[in-house]
Amino acid sequence: MTKCDYLIIGGGIAGLSAAMEAAKYGKVIVLTKGKAGEGATEKAQGGIAAAIDQIRDSTQFHFEDTIAAGAGLCDEKAVRILVTEGVERVKELIEMGARFDRAETEAGGGFALALEGAHKRRRILHAGDATGEEIQRTLGSKVVSEKLADIYQYTLGIDLIVENGKCLGVNALDLKSNKTETFIANSTIITTGGLGQVYLYTTNPEVATGDGIAMAYRAGAAVTDMEFVQFHPTSLVQFEDLKDIIALPRFLISEAVRGEGAMLLNTKGERFMQKYDVKGELAPRDIVSRAIYKEMKENNSDHVFLSLVKVGAEKIKKRFPVIYHTCLERGLDITKDNIPVAPSAHYFMGGIKTDVDGKTNIANLYAAGECASLGVHGANRLASNSLLDGLVFGHRAALAARSEIRNHKSETNPKSEITKAHLKDKELQRFKLIIKSNMWKEVSIVRSKESLLQAQKMINEVDRKLDFEPAAKEEIELKNLTLLAKLITQAALDRPESRGAHYRSDFPKSDDKNWKKHLVYKKS
Ligand SMILES: Cc1cc2nc3c(=O)[nH]c(=O)nc-3n(C[C@H](O)[C@H](O)[C@H](O)COP(=O)(O)OP(=O)(O)OC[C@H]3O[C@@H](n4cnc5c(N)ncnc54)[C@H](O)[C@@H]3O)c2cc1C
Repeated sequence: MTKCDYLIIGGGIAGLSAAMEAAKYGKVIVLTKGKAGEGATEKAQGGIAAAIDQIRDSTQFHFEDTIAAGAGLCDEKAVRILVTEGVERVKELIEMGARFDRAETEAGGGFALALEGAHKRRRILHAGDATGEEIQRTLGSKVVSEKLADIYQYTLGIDLIVENGKCLGVNALDLKSNKTETFIANSTIITTGGLGQVYLYTTNPEVATGDGIAMAYRAGAAVTDMEFVQFHPTSLVQFEDLKDIIALPRFLISEAVRGEGAMLLNTKGERFMQKYDVKGELAPRDIVSRAIYKEMKENNSDHVFLSLVKVGAEKIKKRFPVIYHTCLERGLDITKDNIPVAPSAHYFMGGIKTDVDGKTNIANLYAAGECASLGVHGANRLASNSLLDGLVFGHRAALAARSEIRNHKSETNPKSEITKAHLKDKELQRFKLIIKSNMWKEVSIVRSKESLLQAQKMINEVDRKLDFEPAAKEEIELKNLTLLAKLITQAALDRPESRGAHYRSDFPKSDDKNWKKHLVYKKS
């Protein structure tokens, strides 16, 4: 058994932001399922939004844009904290050494601020198109070089230990030895990121199986906004074999590309976004995703095209080096060739219900980052607000956790055991494919009662086959994916209207009178 004051499950932007603050008050342990640094944070391309240009922009404008994107479900207090404390946290990040692109003029504090969909001002700080990598590097170096936390890599949190209504820590699996290990802490902060891997097509990394949300739900924590999954309009579509599709993410083509003038064309070569929204290519993500979905259906195709001719070769190479080189490796010269793209599951607005201090309904248990839901994004997240969310609310969770009473005594007497898988690999992959393909086909961009009931039937069939205590990593993840698929589908059924990222073809309009509210679920 290993003890500490603060146990942080997850080492992305939210986890490391929490670790930096928590280290001021006690001993910190960070668990990461994969290699430290592996997660959505390091994949982020476009940037991090903050109103640091106080001449052309303001936190009030950022507040208004976030509220507008959230389609009536943002918590105003949370958004106000995000946009104001966000500026402070980003400035700290810069002081720590984060190298964001600079401008030739002093406007915007000397930073090259980008524009993205549904932002009315240029406010996106970026490091080329590898912003997440730069942020992960900055935070990771700080935590490691100043020994702010003990990092346990390849250590998968399985289930929370909750006694007498208090969270005492987590049972985990050491993936190198396959042995179970118990971590006991005064406060546990879940920062395990999103759940894009519930879907067949996703931009999310392999670790994004929503483990933290599933373990919190099993332990009795409330989860909310489970129906709100954001689909990014433009991920690269290539010939993919089934094995790759099940495990690997689709490569994202950042929204910032459209911010710089890239155009969407259908397979007939026609520009189409103006038909759907006056903002054209820079309309909110849900509108662009549904427009692409419609164009693909009408033209019987699995993709549309993104043309960068208007951006120009020089700017493409300078501003989007990762996208340029990755596409080149895959046979596309995007200074000349159109990019075949389609929507993929990208971001989860729902998750573990918390207040603005990351508190859950279980004592001594906190959550922050993409696994948490406090209404900061409402029904639809504004581009580049999620890195900011992790940075701000990870910090706040650690700050709130410092006042927890110390030294809970655990009555558990954990043993370290070697675990053995129940399922054969072929069976496991088959169940995973059933969950992921049904979620994609029936519970993605466009949903209906009929499609949701069909998905529910298939998910329940898999669930019935998983009636055992999962032991190996892939089994634990499959169980979590199945639970989350059930919760997303149930919430989508329970909301008979369309709002933000949740679109029901049988209820295409929003119904503020009855449904301008959050749905909350708790294990009975
Ligand atoms: C391709 C891509 C591009 C994006 N671009 C942007 C962008 O430009 N701007 C923006 O604001 N947002 C962007 N996002 C979203 C943003 O990156 C994420 O929302 C954010 O990084 C989430 O941070 P996090 O700390 O909550 O989780 P993550 O960074 O995903 O970290 C999760 C951590 O939890 C660990 N973990 C997971 N399960 C377990 C477990 N069971 N036990 C132990 N550890 C576990 C993982 O190992 C990892 O360390 C992008 C996302 C993707 C996928």
